[in-house]
Amino acid sequence: MIKFLDLQKINNQYSEKLIEAATEVINSGWYLLGKQVEKFEENLENFQKGGNAIAVANGLDALRLIFKAYIEMGIMNEGDEIIVPANTYIASILAITDNNLVPVLVEPDLETYNLDINLIEKNITSKTKAIMVVHLYGRVCWHEKFEYLAEKYNLKIIEDNAQAIGGSWNNIKTGNLGDAAGFSFYPGKNLGALGDSGAVTTKDIELEKIIRALANYGSAQKYVNQYQGLNSRMDEIQAAFLNVKLNFLNSETQQRRKIASFYLNNIKNDKITLPSETIEDEHVWHVFIIRTDDREKLQSYLIENEIQTLVHYPIPPHKQVCYPQMNALSLPVTEKIHREVLSLPISPVMTIEEVKKIVEVLNKY
Ligand SMILES: *Cc1c(COP(=O)(O)O)cnc(C)c1O
Repeated sequence: MIKFLDLQKINNQYSEKLIEAATEVINSGWYLLGKQVEKFEENLENFQKGGNAIAVANGLDALRLIFKAYIEMGIMNEGDEIIVPANTYIASILAITDNNLVPVLVEPDLETYNLDINLIEKNITSKTKAIMVVHLYGRVCWHEKFEYLAEKYNLKIIEDNAQAIGGSWNNIKTGNLGDAAGFSFYPGKNLGALGDSGAVTTKDIELEKIIRALANYGSAQKYVNQYQGLNSRMDEIQAAFLNVKLNFLNSETQQRRKIASFYLNNIKNDKITLPSETIEDEHVWHVFIIRTDDREKLQSYLIENEIQTLVHYPIPPHKQVCYPQMNALSLPVTEKIHREVLSLPISPVMTIEEVKKIVEVLNKY
């Protein structure tokens, strides 16, 4: 079976270094808020070429903390509206609703699967405080118009960069495009820890200070609590793993791009819609999705041929049981995408034989 994502194989490449890193942390006797996390923040800042990084417990917390900090700063208030793509992973929306802010779901376009730039302005009201851009599937979601709208309506731009670390637009890295960004290092992400981890990046020093305190019980000084914070810290052991793996992210991204380009050039089947062309820097191929009318049939055909696929994602956020207030919304593009997408295996450890086999099997379908 060709696995959708072989995490064991991915991490085995670095096992010696990972064991060394873990041993160092175990022997240090220091497991939180220590030098591994400090080092990781510095490494991430260097990778990003700008901004300040705050290591946190996971990607959802990274996004939650950004909104929470803007509320503490008085920039956002309960009930304010946040524009967000309807086609996203549920965490983008949870980060908004968790802070009693109101998500305004905007349709993506079928070309990029990201926010439809032409639909944003008509969704802006006097209550809109931010646009959350999600670089979904690893494809950069950016346009000059975001900056224009942010300026015109005094909005913050928050990037959900969980899927697109390493991508860039005009040489600016994702995570540096807006006012603040959330990163996820969930094991299956392009930079994956061996457990949960996340980070925020921002150039805003005041925001950074507040997020740092909020992630540590709302305390910047031990036993002095300025905010009602959370416990959302990155473990030293995860930071140590990430310090090893970050060194290989660029070469892994190149591997992903090679596989994506092979798929794009060689999959030829009228029943399958491929992702549209994009500038190389603007896609890190977190997932490679295709669309088809009868997904279940294609998925079982692939399983019969020993190829595992996944669906990102089968149910859109507005149709989830946890959001009854959104269930009646009609978002046809989003619903179509959720009905038709199928994610092919793509990872830095796939062999060319595996990739060729997948193409061959798809072309015979
Ligand atoms: C993974 C992901 C998150 C959440 O990250 P976790 O580390 O799993 O909490 C948020 N947004 C998107 C788009 C994601 O893919």
